[in-house]
Amino acid sequence: MNTTPPLKTPQALKTPQAIRGTQDIFGPDAEAFAHVVETFERVRRLYRFRRVEMPVFEKTAVFSRSLGETTDVVSKEMYSFEDRGGESLTLRPEFTAGIARAYLTEGWQQYAPLKVATHGPLFRYERPQKGRYRQFHQIDAEVIGAAEPAADVELLVMADQLLRELGIADGVTLQLNTLGDAASREAWRSALVEYFLAHRAELSEDSQDRLERNPLRILDSKDPRDRPFADAAPKIDSYLSAEAQDFFAAVTEGLDESGVQWTRAYALVRGLDYYRHTAFEFTTDRLGAQGTVLGGGRYDGLMEALGGPATPAVGWAAGIERLAMLVGDVGKPVRSAAVVIESEHKGLVRLGREIERLIRSAEMPSVLIAEGNVRKRFDRARKLGVDYVLILAESGDGVHFDLRVKRFISDRHRTRGRLNIALKRLLRDRFDVDVLDWKRAVTHGGSFSLRLSMVR
Ligand code: ATP
Ligand code: MG
Repeated sequence: MNTTPPLKTPQALKTPQAIRGTQDIFGPDAEAFAHVVETFERVRRLYRFRRVEMPVFEKTAVFSRSLGETTDVVSKEMYSFEDRGGESLTLRPEFTAGIARAYLTEGWQQYAPLKVATHGPLFRYERPQKGRYRQFHQIDAEVIGAAEPAADVELLVMADQLLRELGIADGVTLQLNTLGDAASREAWRSALVEYFLAHRAELSEDSQDRLERNPLRILDSKDPRDRPFADAAPKIDSYLSAEAQDFFAAVTEGLDESGVQWTRAYALVRGLDYYRHTAFEFTTDRLGAQGTVLGGGRYDGLMEALGGPATPAVGWAAGIERLAMLVGDVGKPVRSAAVVIESEHKGLVRLGREIERLIRSAEMPSVLIAEGNVRKRFDRARKLGVDYVLILAESGDGVHFDLRVKRFISDRHRTRGRLNIALKRLLRDRFDVDVLDWKRAVTHGGSFSLRLSMVR
């Protein structure tokens, strides 16, 4: 038996782990994430929403005053800390409050009605699980300074189009509610308090607590003890002012005219205090408990909570991770090529670089493989899973070289066109290649060689 102790290694350094609830996104997940963001960027341009970039942290008051002290986000989920100057700061748990702050402090009122869009990381101290993280990401769209229901409709139509373009509209439904204007909401709130007080003892502890602090939230409690009472609770419709009724009717008519399907969700109240009138969520049952992919509504009360003038506004935000999970594998976005130099010849490497550049300028992704064992380079290119491999090699006579094209896909039209255009001029002007021969090489792929005169 070998009794020698293992060789002493320097005290092993422990690798710090990632923070709980954060993600290192890689591979297909990262592609799906990027696809969501790219699709959002395209769609928001179609609706002429202007891009904004917002700070990741703000003074704590920006969130505590606008979201409301009694909301889950403010009371339990915020990452707040004192900076070295003793000021209380908070990592943004949502976009709206920061954008509203900027609207007031940056003089963006001059652009009203202002349509803005952004995306990025948010931070909430929650119990991490699938689809719920402590650092997560949202896409966000807001219309500030617009009182008309048309703004609500436009935002919902845009959200609907986004889901369609992502190919996930089918399993996702728009849940729509109205919270009425301030007066309607207050009357409804009193009625709810009275109703729930009568059943106080039968409610969950959380909901008994909510009764004092945030009674509307009992309506979307997930606790089975609360559900029967939440479902039977007074509905907002009996308390809506005529004005609030008209507003809601205009929103639903606009949606119907635009072909956006919706269902009425009486218990939908949204987590934040600042909502008025329209409140909505796009939900799915394909993500388990984390079924809300997009949520938003009208927040006419928010600007005043931040010390600004009364300013009507409406917006939504969607979790990028949850959308990305629905999108799944986005597959190969575009056809791609590799240029392999099967030689150490300097002139060939130079030519390879030029070819690579030309392919990329035709918007086809391309990589150059000109290092390492010459005989293994082709295999390395194959492993990349590219659709075309272009091989440059010496021909042996010292005067010519060979360009071989190997194609590994069957749909040739678009890609062939791109490769063709990318290299046609170079081959014709510099190497006197017959354009038809080149076209054939790209089309047939297989292993078609062109004999070219060496560059000097
Ligand atoms: P939930 O009910 O799932 O907690 P929420 O009402 O707190 O959602 P919002 O504040 O409306 O969520 O945020 C809008 C969207 O952001 C949600 O619909 C969801 O897609 C996403 N989202 C919210 N919190 C998280 C999180 N912790 N992790 C991942 N995505 C999240
Ligand atoms: Mg939440």
